[in-house]
Amino acid sequence: MNAINQAVKPAAERAPSYYSASLNFETDYPTLQGSVTVDVAIIGGGFTGIATAVELAERGLKVAVVETNKVGWGASGRNGGQVTGSLSGDEAMRKQMRNTLGDEVDDFIWHLRWRGHEIIKNRVTKYGIDCDLKHGHLHTAMKASHMDELKATYDEALRRGMGEDVTLLDAAGVRAQLSSDLYCGALKNTRNMHLHPLNLCIGEAKAAESLGALIFEHSEVLDIVHGPRPAVVTTGGRIEAKQVLLAGDVYHKLERRKLKGLIFPAMGGIVTTAPLGDLAKEINPQDLAVYDCRFVLDYYRLTADGRLLFGGGCNYSGRDSRDIAGELRPCIERTFPQLKGVQIDYQWSCAMGIVMNRIPQLGKLSSNVWYCQGYSGHGIATTHIMGEIMAKAITGDLEQYDTFAACRHIKVPLGDQLGNPMLAAGMWYYQMLEKLR
Ligand SMILES: Cc1cc2nc3c(=O)[nH]c(=O)nc-3n(C[C@H](O)[C@H](O)[C@H](O)COP(=O)(O)OP(=O)(O)OC[C@H]3O[C@@H](n4cnc5c(N)ncnc54)[C@H](O)[C@@H]3O)c2cc1C
Repeated sequence: MNAINQAVKPAAERAPSYYSASLNFETDYPTLQGSVTVDVAIIGGGFTGIATAVELAERGLKVAVVETNKVGWGASGRNGGQVTGSLSGDEAMRKQMRNTLGDEVDDFIWHLRWRGHEIIKNRVTKYGIDCDLKHGHLHTAMKASHMDELKATYDEALRRGMGEDVTLLDAAGVRAQLSSDLYCGALKNTRNMHLHPLNLCIGEAKAAESLGALIFEHSEVLDIVHGPRPAVVTTGGRIEAKQVLLAGDVYHKLERRKLKGLIFPAMGGIVTTAPLGDLAKEINPQDLAVYDCRFVLDYYRLTADGRLLFGGGCNYSGRDSRDIAGELRPCIERTFPQLKGVQIDYQWSCAMGIVMNRIPQLGKLSSNVWYCQGYSGHGIATTHIMGEIMAKAITGDLEQYDTFAACRHIKVPLGDQLGNPMLAAGMWYYQMLEKLR
């Protein structure tokens, strides 16, 4: 066995958040004890791990998911809930994948951009998952250069036959959808969605379980044993499998020799106000999810019980801060002056895994041990796309996997020390560019 590379620390319960306060049901999966044998062992009970488990279980494989804390404890259960048609690294992908896909690259990326939406919608329907799923986004512009970008996206959508789903709005058009004077225009997209991510994640876990998947909580994987019959090891147990998938995103510290320096934590903060009553309908009558075009952006939407859920800023030092409500209140009041002094009921933060070139990282650690991570803040749809791609790869269809695995990634030397300062410097540079564009 390799050296155990993580000190055992107590497993965490859910972070306090609006989401954990509005769970459909609390999960109560057992801790891994003793020996278990399955086809595929998955490390991490976020969207990547759980979505892949559903895909594999639907294909008839025996799967076990092992989670340090609770299902949906990480970014999957604490995010903004916006299901966007952006893969984050679209442009970088286009450049790199042209080498393998040639002229098909644009169609490949366009198809993928909406694949996650289909998977989520079908799964919610198929397994009856109650996660407040709704359609409609406004991607808002704060200056003319933002409008140019939105116009280019709009034109592509028209070319691709998506005209019924998109509308380009000027300032007055935005004002008709949203009671805010902050924007000079927006792209409205009714294919994009928003939802309660934690209820989606635990609902999918239940779906996987109904198909025979085993799920273990409060069970930190301390080591992956490589070999013809790989295994994952916790303090109390061991799972032998034909294949292993490492899906711990930025929260795991396994396999440092190969994975160190590839992915870095950025802390995102979110608040939720008290229920707004009639004011909710007044500020956002169409119940749209909204995000702006800046590099470091604000994003918000209403919850099912009429609160404003508002996220923004990002701490690239990798350290948790901070007075999140104090940071975000001015942004809320700037967007909606009507909400001056509004009560904030919940605030929380969470790490998201940032990849330098923004392309999700898929690969192999040995012949039967895979990893999949790094969605740079755009993970709800992308994790579901990757879940499908990884399940196909694990069951022998490598076509899409190979396209991603062939992408080159920057590995930062002394990654754990230098990665976040480099990210912070990069973001500073982009914020300077933001002022100029
Ligand atoms: C504040 C914030 C807002 C965001 N907003 C959005 C949004 O609006 N739209 C969007 O598309 N994306 C958003 N994202 C990004 C998205 O949430 C993530 O990309 C996605 O959830 C990552 O899923 P994951 O399963 O890979 O990782 P996670 O959900 O972080 O799950 C990883 C899991 O692995 C477990 N784990 C780690 N190591 C081990 C181990 N050794 N043994 C066992 N288990 C282990 C962890 O405990 C954790 O539960 C946001 C992220 C943040 C932080």
